[in-house]
Amino acid sequence: LTLGLAACGGEGAGSGDDNNGGAANGEPSDLTVGVAMPTQTSERWIADGAAVEDSLKELGYNVDLQFANDQIPTQQQQIDQMVTQGVDALIIASIDGTALSTQLDAAGAAGIPVIAYDRLINGNENVDFYVTFDNENVGVQQATSLLVGLGILNADGSEGDAEGPFNVELFAGSPDDNNATFFFNGAMKTLEPYIEDGTLVVKSGQTDFGTVATQRWSQEEAQKRMENLLTSTYQGSDKVDGVLSPFDGISRGIISALEGAGYSGDDMPIITGQDAEIASVKLINDGVQFSTIFKDTRKLADQAVSAAQTYLEGGTPEPNDTDSYNNGVKNVPSFLLESDIVYKDNITSLLVDSGYYTQEQVDSGQ
Ligand code: BGC
Repeated sequence: LTLGLAACGGEGAGSGDDNNGGAANGEPSDLTVGVAMPTQTSERWIADGAAVEDSLKELGYNVDLQFANDQIPTQQQQIDQMVTQGVDALIIASIDGTALSTQLDAAGAAGIPVIAYDRLINGNENVDFYVTFDNENVGVQQATSLLVGLGILNADGSEGDAEGPFNVELFAGSPDDNNATFFFNGAMKTLEPYIEDGTLVVKSGQTDFGTVATQRWSQEEAQKRMENLLTSTYQGSDKVDGVLSPFDGISRGIISALEGAGYSGDDMPIITGQDAEIASVKLINDGVQFSTIFKDTRKLADQAVSAAQTYLEGGTPEPNDTDSYNNGVKNVPSFLLESDIVYKDNITSLLVDSGYYTQEQVDSGQ
């Protein structure tokens, strides 16, 4: 376990209005951290939950870890219960970033520090700290890998040989997840010059976030939308050359739709992703999906645990960013981590050498 933040107890106990009063200075074994995760349908959240739980337990804290099946009322009830039971700190990866105000009001009133995990919680002042990745840059990386796959850019960022025009389609994440707009805006900032000069053609014309968003990041919904796009827009000899996808589950839905329409082998468009899910890493290794974004959830868990420990010892965690994430009420002090683009040729160096997966997992996709 590496604790990246200053975690010295008692120091700099902060600017009077921090919600760390009730929790400070107990023995770890007397303190409980409530950890609310969105769903177990995507493996990243299972890994996040396990990593946070294990690290907290290693430090001696009690942990109440809950998953909410992507159901907003379930997550609300779980957090209500954690507050009622008197947890000493909360780590929350929200489903809907605007649906937790009642719960955060209660946490604030009880002096329970709240750490938003990966996804910002909006519209409430009682979000004390935010640990996440540089989400706009994730979007930039997704778009960059699409351009690399099409040959418009080289992997080192220099100009590639391909001139296009290329037909591309765009997918975004769940509209109630604050991250989804950051990913999409970062990606569009990168793609727009190429759309404007005609190198990229969004043949369906569907380019605004509301139209291309995917509720709850659903693989099935993404598959349906891709099937509809193929029927409405790509009849005859028109082919899709690239698809911007914000998440590996969505990418697998898109791939199913394309395979259903007869795409295979070298015809398969350049498809991006996110999270380096093992099934998708295998698809990249097999040349079906082109890229994904690796966000080392072990590092994110360490940051969240370190921030929680700092609060529990009466301190205030140190942000490395204070102006990127405004939740509608305030700028939330944040700790942002960096992500990496995964291509077929760096799977080993990024994912296997770092111990995130074994070579057997990459080969088997499990
Ligand atoms: C996370 C992504 C993930 C997506 C779907 C986002 O909030 O940042 O890593 O792909 O949710 O679970």
